[in-house]
Amino acid sequence: MSNSPSLPPLREVIKRHGLTANRALGQNFLFDTQLLDRIAAIPGPLEGEQVFEVGPGPGGLTRALLQAGAEVTAVERDERCLPALDELDACFPNQLKVINADALQIDLKARFSRPFHIISNLPYNVGSALLVKWLSQPTWPPLWKSLTLMFQREVADRIVAAPGSSAYGRLSILAQWRCDAKLAMPVHRSAFTPPPKVMSAVVYLTPREQPPGVNPATLERLTQAAFSQRRKMLRQSLKGLPGALEALDIAAIDPTRRPETVSVEEFVALARQLDEVN
Ligand code: SAM
Repeated sequence: MSNSPSLPPLREVIKRHGLTANRALGQNFLFDTQLLDRIAAIPGPLEGEQVFEVGPGPGGLTRALLQAGAEVTAVERDERCLPALDELDACFPNQLKVINADALQIDLKARFSRPFHIISNLPYNVGSALLVKWLSQPTWPPLWKSLTLMFQREVADRIVAAPGSSAYGRLSILAQWRCDAKLAMPVHRSAFTPPPKVMSAVVYLTPREQPPGVNPATLERLTQAAFSQRRKMLRQSLKGLPGALEALDIAAIDPTRRPETVSVEEFVALARQLDEVN
């Protein structure tokens, strides 16, 4: 751990800077420093590590990351938060870089020259879109070493779901095709200010070295078609996808199965066959 300067309580920072929570920006802040330290500890020791944080807000999680010795690049859309983050920058010289922008527009390759961690209490309105963006990049393994991300519990459950469960679907396949994904920590809604309507959870994903080679766009098209009618048999839901019935046959996947019974490996095999027959 680096030497931690004494910092004012987060509630005081919020009050002083008039940071009333903006619902449209998914602002649900965390103030519990023990909880924030536990989230920052999920990827392991951060001393000297580079971290990308989406949505630092008033800087609660950012503090925990800086105190753990990380060099943090944080992207925050709400410019009202910038003065509070400037104060944090002054307390941790040369450890914090803040970008006032939309995280969806950030090109991580242009920002980082060595492997880094992504750690965020994500704004729920763009959380899934960011995850899909980080998972769908053409080159693999990516430059990021891990993802430690807070989602609504229902989304977290979908990311880590196993075949056969009701939560298993497109997001599970996209995440587990390229990563090992686990639910790291459930977080009660009362931990947030203001509390959201639903429970949350932190998921932890690490890239698999050599995921089976497949075109991400084909896998996306296939899972979209299969799960758009999850109660139907594959032969019915994939009927409109050219070459899909032939690919099912070659991949030896029973066309009467329903999509939630098909494993990640089987979807990948099917996507590869689909590219071959087309
Ligand atoms: N990190 C703080 C915490 O844990 O208390 C705040 C987390 S809050 C759930 C989400 C933060 O993301 C807010 O500060 C919000 O302004 C910011 N945000 C929302 N949409 C964003 C976007 N598209 N790009 C960057 N930041 C965004």
